[in-house]
Amino acid sequence: MFFVVLRHETIFFLTMKQISLLVIAILFCSSPIFAQEEYMYQSSADSLRRYENKRYHNALTITPLTFPAGKLPKNVILFIGDGMGLAQVFAAQTANLGALNITNLPVSGFSMTQSANDYITDSAAGGTALACGKKTNNGAIGIDEHGNALKSLVHLSENKGLSTGIVCTCALTHATPASFVTHQKSRKMYEPIAEDFLDTDIDVFIGGGSNYFMKRKDGKNLVDSLKTRKYDVVYNIHDIQTSRADKLVGLLDTVHLPRAEHRNDMLSKSVTKAIKILKYNKTGFFMMVEGSQIDWGGHANDTHYIVNETLDMDKAVGEALEFAMRDGNTLIIVTADHETGGMALMKGDSATGKIEAAYTRDDHTGSPVPVFAYGPGAELFTGMYQNTEIFNKIVNLLQLKSK
Ligand code: MG
Ligand code: ZN
Repeated sequence: MFFVVLRHETIFFLTMKQISLLVIAILFCSSPIFAQEEYMYQSSADSLRRYENKRYHNALTITPLTFPAGKLPKNVILFIGDGMGLAQVFAAQTANLGALNITNLPVSGFSMTQSANDYITDSAAGGTALACGKKTNNGAIGIDEHGNALKSLVHLSENKGLSTGIVCTCALTHATPASFVTHQKSRKMYEPIAEDFLDTDIDVFIGGGSNYFMKRKDGKNLVDSLKTRKYDVVYNIHDIQTSRADKLVGLLDTVHLPRAEHRNDMLSKSVTKAIKILKYNKTGFFMMVEGSQIDWGGHANDTHYIVNETLDMDKAVGEALEFAMRDGNTLIIVTADHETGGMALMKGDSATGKIEAAYTRDDHTGSPVPVFAYGPGAELFTGMYQNTEIFNKIVNLLQLKSK
């Protein structure tokens, strides 16, 4: 399979014969897949490893960098980049000309992601560790390895009178968001998981998965129940932005949302809106935001997919950060449930935003993942610790355990 090196200086030295070959190569590569993408490399498995950014965003300069020791946050915003290891983060940083909001966060550490029954976690056990503070078996959501139901950061926050929110780019019933609301032996119980949202008091939840709320095999329409409970239920980003309700559900796709290139900044717009609603609680709020599809880019060994999804989440981090810097009482944590793809960076140039990666597998790996933090209590996130410690630190900082 051939590919094209589109560096201007290289093209300059090509002979006429080589140029005509080049033109044929470009035409050959103009498959429907190629046409969908706005990037130049998307035509062969080999080209999936290369990425060149065309849309940079500004990374914020953070002030203040430190807070008085022992100061507790009122609000916590936890970002989970599904499958986002250090290589994924630095690939995005390189693509964004050397700067990200995520890597500008002043405190960093590492989280060990192993599950109760496997060195390699899946997103259900990984999500449960972060959401509920217990290592569990792969596939299980919100229960420990013996099947006992666990309280998540959302449940504990609600108990303390905080407002809560969940925003993601997959179906709301998918493993990571589900870990914060449900107790299921299997992550595949999408319809029961959707019902469990009605067992919580989440103020805002935005993502995909309307099918599991409205087009269910059991015929129930959960949207009616949500409306009875005073939620404004909307189906597009415009209605999210213009909603005046203080309880908001955004079901933005039947199952998962499309890829970042086709989501029109849905994640950062939704985070901005969610903060607007949640911040009115004087006791504070907890929100989980997931960059759900970084993982899917990793499974596909697709550098474009990984980098675009990571950049998309970084923009949402920027929105949260802008609020946190104004507010002064908000802790932002950015981490992952595990790494996906065994991604290694082979070539890169932060002057041009080009990156080339290699992959060791098309599944999750056991590598520790980075943790970045900003705000009161951020200093607790240095060092290397188990993923369950992220839960414990948040519980302590928000003083959630009622016992
Ligand atoms: Mg996920
Ligand atoms: Zn995965």
